[in-house]
Amino acid sequence: MMATYDQWLDAYSDAYDMTPGPIDVACPNCGQQCLRLVFTGLPDRDVGRAHFWCDNCLQGIGISRTLVPEHALVQDSRLPRDEREPKIPNFQIAS
Ligand SMILES: [Zn+2]
Repeated sequence: MMATYDQWLDAYSDAYDMTPGPIDVACPNCGQQCLRLVFTGLPDRDVGRAHFWCDNCLQGIGISRTLVPEHALVQDSRLPRDEREPKIPNFQIAS
């Protein structure tokens, strides 16, 4: 049984509040503590896209436009996708 979008949203909310981490939240899908939260945006802007996923089961969600918390991991959106750091794996979006 796959975790629902709402379950992911709950975990995201907790993880967001723990920025810059560590993320002390179990993955809603597999139960492992392998959740990652990385944003994409311009370095001098406080709004960006959030990518939230589990490194173990490669499930997760994206949040299209959100406030980037202070000290968060942020990819520079001006760079080509494959040059952005930290890397974000291809993960399956929960529905
Ligand atoms: Zn997982």
